[in-house]
Parts: sequence; structure tokens; C-alpha cells
Amino acid sequence: MARQSTLRFVIIGAGMSGMLAAIKLRAAGHRHVTVLEKGATVGGTWRENRYPGLHCDVPAHAYTYSFAPNPDWSRYMVPGPEIQAYFEDIADRYRLRELIRFGEEVEDCAFDEGVWRIRTRNGLCWAADVVIAASGVLHHPRMPDIPGIADFDGALMHSARWEEGVALDGRRIGVIGNGSTGVQLVSALAGRAAHMCHFQRSPQWIMPVVNPFYSEVERAAFRRDPASIDAVRYHPEFLAAVRRFTHGIVDPDSEDMRAIEATVEQHLEDAVRDPALREKLRPDYRAACKRLIYSWDYYDVVQQHDVAIVTDPIQRIERAGVRTVDGTLHPLDVVVLATGFHEQQFIRPANVTGYGGRTLDEVWRTHVTAYQSIALPDFPNFFFLNGPTAPVGNFSLIDIAERQWGYIEQLIARIDAGDCALIAPTAEAMARYDRARIEQARKTIFASGCSSWYLDANNVPMTWPWTYEQFAEAMAQPRFADYDMASSSAPCAVG
Ligand code: NAP
Repeated sequence: MARQSTLRFVIIGAGMSGMLAAIKLRAAGHRHVTVLEKGATVGGTWRENRYPGLHCDVPAHAYTYSFAPNPDWSRYMVPGPEIQAYFEDIADRYRLRELIRFGEEVEDCAFDEGVWRIRTRNGLCWAADVVIAASGVLHHPRMPDIPGIADFDGALMHSARWEEGVALDGRRIGVIGNGSTGVQLVSALAGRAAHMCHFQRSPQWIMPVVNPFYSEVERAAFRRDPASIDAVRYHPEFLAAVRRFTHGIVDPDSEDMRAIEATVEQHLEDAVRDPALREKLRPDYRAACKRLIYSWDYYDVVQQHDVAIVTDPIQRIERAGVRTVDGTLHPLDVVVLATGFHEQQFIRPANVTGYGGRTLDEVWRTHVTAYQSIALPDFPNFFFLNGPTAPVGNFSLIDIAERQWGYIEQLIARIDAGDCALIAPTAEAMARYDRARIEQARKTIFASGCSSWYLDANNVPMTWPWTYEQFAEAMAQPRFADYDMASSSAPCAVG
């Protein structure tokens, strides 16, 4: 018989991590679980991003819950709508919708005499013993500060606010920004547009990949034998690539990073025939300093006669198009802003207030952080999934969230067992973690001299700066000595 727990949980966000938390809590026998979701359905980033060409550049079988493999993925790296369909299906299979309050955006979350009180914009309130902040990272679109942006006569939209009704075929399309999003967009739209301008402020290194389809025979084999899915998920070549990447990030002078650099440099040499275009596309910073872009067709696409890479800086947007500083007007019907996100927001703009009235805004005044990527002093029983200082890079964020959950559930178990009512890292542990993390982050490839969304306001990468193996090790078991554990009235045993 399922055990009876009286703990009340509120999970903020019904994206990949929030759904994971809900599934795991229910499986552990918790009955008082509510998920607050601002949108109308599950899926998070996959619900919000619907731009043409959207796909996940992590192999699909690795970007899948370990407990819910999907034999039906169409190809090695799948389009966004397929991933959204997977999460919708998970929500149904695990009966998550009955736990989720859709259309409820959290406005305030305050710790009040041992309980978290959560209020949404609609004025509804919840009380929780434990809060799981699973609100994602990249969900507040960054609108560029380009003069004249409101003057454009055509259609103008951010990549994460795609308007289905905008006609694209045979139109003149401009894409501003060439991160993972801009590159995917250009690859997808180039064949449809009459003319495509890709406005590039800084070039990007491109890692070549192949993206084969799975045949019906292969999918049937996956269905019959789930172990064959594991063979893809844990394929030695894929795991070796992850290992090479993580070691390269941590040690920019390593053989591993040199190998990555050699691959992307050779790809540029081999794939781009025109020397002038090749130089336009050649970054002056090291590979993987910005998030590495994986593409099987971008260099082919930009060599088509109806695609232009525009490197002159944008001066302004006018009624008829985009004018660059050399005086050229690039006439356009559609402008897509693939200009990224406000990546330091996390759960904000929700007001989160911890013990003693401390707010997240105050705590994160100089930089966003969380002890071991999970928790903060003075914010007891408040845990992040894919929050600050979690690994980013080109990893499967599902794998990261599952490892983080393995850690969080050990904290929850102490509360549930009655060892304590409240748990939060000590200020000393937080400071120690932050010092070590920042020192190491400055040595990573992300700090090797480029602009990127990984950098915080002090130009320090806000990511996990050690290897992926070290992350897995850190998540395997909390160091309880680094936590304050208190009953509502008195401290209780540690360790
Ligand atoms: P991004 O990597 O932050 O790229 C933003 C782009 O916009 C950059 O090229 C930037 O140029 C440019 N830009 C920003 N403001 C500009 C301005 N005022 N004028 C001209 N250019 C401007 O954003 P993103 O491409 O949306 O990707 C964000 C992250 O989302 C990725 O790194 C990745 O983590 C995730 N993502 C993942 C996938 C996937 O397949 N897994 C797909 C899409 C996105 P500078 O480089 O010069 O700053």
C-alpha cells in the first residue's frame, strides 16, 4: 500500500524538470503535490519555441527520461514538435494533468513561519512545506535594443514568440542572431524564402553532425527490445564525445579541446568554398567558448545564391528593412529576432522571499548562484532543478535534472523522516562553493574570451565549472554537514 506523507509540495513549472519532480514525488508516495504552470499545457521550452527548424541537438534517445524511453523517435536528433508530443504523452501516461494548475503564474513565494506561501497572478494562494523551482532558464525573450524596431512595416517577431500566421514562402526574410536558434532558423527557412539575410554580429564555430532517420524496422526493434534503446543512449562514441567535451571545457589546453577545435576548423575549411565567405564565418575566439553549435547543413545553406551573411553592424530598422552602418538598406518582409533570452532571471520576476525577509533579488545582486546548483541559505526547503550553476554546455538537460532530483530527494527524505522540518545549506558552505566555483569557472573554455549568455554580470561563467563526472558524483549524495537542519523550534542532529 502506498505510504502516507503529509508534506505539501508546490512545483513551479510543468516543463521537463517540473514534470520529472511530479512523477518522482508521486512515485515516492507523496499525495499533496501541486504544479503551478503559467502556460496552457506542459512542455516548457518545447511548448514556447515553435520556430521553423527547431530541433534538439542532443541525441533524442539521450534527451528522454531514463524511465520512459521512446522507441518512436523519428531520427537521431528530433524536431521540437516531436519532443513536445513526447511530453504531452508523458503528462497523460503519468496522469500529471490532475496535479497541474494551468494558467497560474507565480507572482510571490514567501517563507512565513516555517511554511512557503505562494500566490499567483490570479490571486490564488497555496501553502507548501517544500517548493521545487523548475521554471527553466531561457524563457524571457531578449528583445534587442535596435533603433527603429517599432517602425518596421513587415512582420517582426522573436524566435520564442513565433506567429504561425506569418507567410514565409517566397518572402524576403532577415534573421538577426546566429546562436543555436538563428542557425536552425536559417537552415530551415533558406529554401523557402525568396531571399534570406543572416545578420551576424559574431561568427560561430559549427560542429558537423549527421542526423539519420530511424527506419520503421529499427523503431520496431526498439519497441521489442528496450535494451537496444540503451545501446543508442549509452553508445560508447556518444559517451566519449560527452567526456571529451566536458574535459575540454574544464581544461582548455587539453588534448580533448584541441581535438574539438581541429574538428570545427577543418569543417570550415572543407565545407565553405569561397575564401571571402569562409573568413566572414571564421570566429576569432576559441571553439566552445560560446555554446557550440551542431549543424548538418548550415554551411551548405549559407552558400546558396539566395542567402547572404551580413556582417556589417545593424544601424537601425526602417519601414522597409534593416539598414547596416555601411549605408545599405536590406529590404525585408519578415524579421526574426533570434537574439536570445534574459538568462539570469530563472524563477524571477516572481518575488521570492526567504527567511528573515531576504529576497532572491538581494541574494543574487552580484551574481546568480545556488549551492551545488540546488539550494540557497535562508531559503529552506526551496530547491532548484536546472537552476543556477547547473551544467549547461551541450548536455542532456534531462540527465542533469534526473541527477539533481536524485540529490533533492535525499534532502526531502530527511524532512519526511522527521529528522528536521527545514533544510538549507549553511552560509559557510555556500560561500565555500561559490569561491571554488568562481575560481574554477574563470579557467574554463567559457571564460576564454568571447561574449555569451553563459557569462554573468561580472563576466564569470555561471555554469558548473568541473567535469560532468564530478557533477554526477556531487549529485550522488548530499554532504549533510553542509546543511542547516532545523525543527520548527530547535536545531536537530546533523550528519
Ligand atoms: P543566443 O545563443 O544567446 O544567441 C543570440 C544571438 O543574437 C547571438 O548571435 C548574438 O550575437 C545575437 N544578438 C543579440 N543581440 C543582438 C543585437 N542587438 N544585434 C545583433 N545581434 C544580436 O540565443 P539562442 O540562439 O536563442 O540560443 C540560446 C540557447 O538556447 C542556446 O545556447 C542553447 O543553450 C539553447 N538552444 C538549444 C537548442 C538545441 O538544439 N538544443 C536550440 C536552440 C537554442 P553575439 O554572439 O554577438 O552576442
